[in-house]
Amino acid sequence: MENFPIHSPLESLPRRRFLQSTALLAAAAWAPEILAQQSGDYWSRPRALWLKRKETGEELRTVYWSDGKLVVDAYVRCCTLLRDVRAGAVVQMNPTLLDILCGVYGWFAQAGMERPIIVTSGYRTSATNNLTEGSARNSMHMVGRAADIQVPDVPTDYLAKLGMYLRGGGVGYYATKHFVHVDSGRLRTWAG
Ligand SMILES: [Zn+2]
Repeated sequence: MENFPIHSPLESLPRRRFLQSTALLAAAAWAPEILAQQSGDYWSRPRALWLKRKETGEELRTVYWSDGKLVVDAYVRCCTLLRDVRAGAVVQMNPTLLDILCGVYGWFAQAGMERPIIVTSGYRTSATNNLTEGSARNSMHMVGRAADIQVPDVPTDYLAKLGMYLRGGGVGYYATKHFVHVDSGRLRTWAG
C-alpha cells in the first residue's frame, strides 16, 4: 500500500475527489481483501457492478452477489455482457474476475466518482483469441477469467496501478492501446 502512487495520476482529477480518494486510501482496508475473501465491510455488502461493452454499447448495472452468494440472473447478465461478441459465445465467467471488476468499480464509486467500467474484451473463443493482436496463446480470456477494461476519465496507468493494488491476479498495462487487462489467475504484471 505504501508503494501505491496516488498523487500524480489523480492530480488531473478534481481536487475534492482527489482528497476523497486519498482519505479512502488512508482508511485502507477493503481493497486488499479481494483475494483473502475476508468479511471486511465492503465485501460483506451486496456487490454491485456497472459495466459497459465498448463494441456494442450494452450497459448493465446490477448486484451480482448478495447474502453471501451469487445472484444467479445478475451473474448470467454479467456473463452475457462479458461474452465473446465476435463469436456470440457466452460462458460462465470466473466469479473472482467479477470481484476484481467490483473492486475497480467500488474504488471510484466510494470516492464519489461513480462511472462504468468499459469492457473492450471479455471471454474469447480460441478462434477470437487467435485473431486478437498480441494475445497470449494460453490467454486467461479463453477460460472466462480475464477482461480488458477502461474507466472513463481515468488515466490508463492509474487504472493499472489500481489493478495491482487490488491484488486479484494478473494485471497487464497496455499504454498505447489505452486499456488494462485484469484476470483472476496468479499474481503477475506486465506491460503490453
Ligand atoms: Zn486481456
